Amino acid sequence: MIKSKKTAEKKTSPKTPRAKKHSKKSSPKTEATKKVAGTTRAGFVAIIGAPNAGKSTLLNRLVGQKISIVSPKPQTTRMKILGVVTEGSTQMAMVDTPGIFQPKRRLDRAMIAAAWASIEDADAIVLLVDGAARADDKTESITDELRRRNRRVTLVLNKIDQVEKRKLLPLAQKFHDSAIVDDVFMISALDGDGVGDLQKHLAKMMPESPWFFEEDQLSDLPSQLLAAEITREQLFRQLQQELPYGATVIPEAWENRPDNSALIRQTIVVAREGHRPIVLGKGGTRIKSIGAAARREISQFLHQPVHLFLEVKVDERWQERLDYYSMFGLEFVQNGKV
Ligand code: GDP
Ligand code: MG
Repeated sequence: MIKSKKTAEKKTSPKTPRAKKHSKKSSPKTEATKKVAGTTRAGFVAIIGAPNAGKSTLLNRLVGQKISIVSPKPQTTRMKILGVVTEGSTQMAMVDTPGIFQPKRRLDRAMIAAAWASIEDADAIVLLVDGAARADDKTESITDELRRRNRRVTLVLNKIDQVEKRKLLPLAQKFHDSAIVDDVFMISALDGDGVGDLQKHLAKMMPESPWFFEEDQLSDLPSQLLAAEITREQLFRQLQQELPYGATVIPEAWENRPDNSALIRQTIVVAREGHRPIVLGKGGTRIKSIGAAARREISQFLHQPVHLFLEVKVDERWQERLDYYSMFGLEFVQNGKV
């Protein structure tokens, strides 16, 4: 578990990656619950929206610590990340769904299935829309699917730091007419404007229930996966256009040293032998710089010194590997079945 600073020092070893799909039924509800039903509220909030709407940014703001990977590039959130917001007597488990978009490859379909599964389980659904962007068919296909599933949402128009609220009214009206919207909020996930009101509103929608998590538990994302995700973000950042298609980062080993440092080994997987030199860079300079930046960020996040070792492996078929899917909490979806 990722813990807040207070408890980070006590950490012994990271959790092994969860293979189970997260749902209310399989939630850690049973583990850690001091409060009794009737006095507390707890539930799940799914944040959905087109790529780049600002889902990760909103989640990070709500949870108050960087736990989801924010990137200017679409579709970098590949796994379901759970952030826990506890305020007063209410605990909300926020599920950051991977972008819901038209499936092209098998991995995309797995992502979509994972996203909709978390939506099915949610007590509240936030449909996040980039108010500064022009109408997009991705959001439209999401609203179509919501209507089909008979799910109503809290519409949140984001990025009001970039667009005047009154210009958003026709957009809000359009969604209202689609008959899936219960309430409308306008926020800036980036600077926090309106996020407090949204949070209070969502808290009221949570059912009476014992809490799912300890108060200081910020995320149940296993540290290993989080660390791999941070390295992957650096790959994206530092390689940009050069980034080989299908490159990913897999956690290999983790050892907590007696001096409170962590020794972390990760493998960067590329699909072709020819991709290796791109990731390594001239004389290994590229991978060194990726590793250095990732190490800094992982260490900052875990509140402990980190030794990071990166290796590059070629695996042409990694996308097909089932264990990889389950490691990231995704369901493997057969061709054509979404
Ligand atoms: P996601 O794909 O939905 O998870 O979107 P991200 O959270 O990764 O955000 C995509 C981009 O939009 C990033 O560059 C964010 O910094 C930016 N962004 C998110 N929220 C806001 C906002 O309220 N205002 C502005 N100006 N930019 C935002
Ligand atoms: Mg995201």
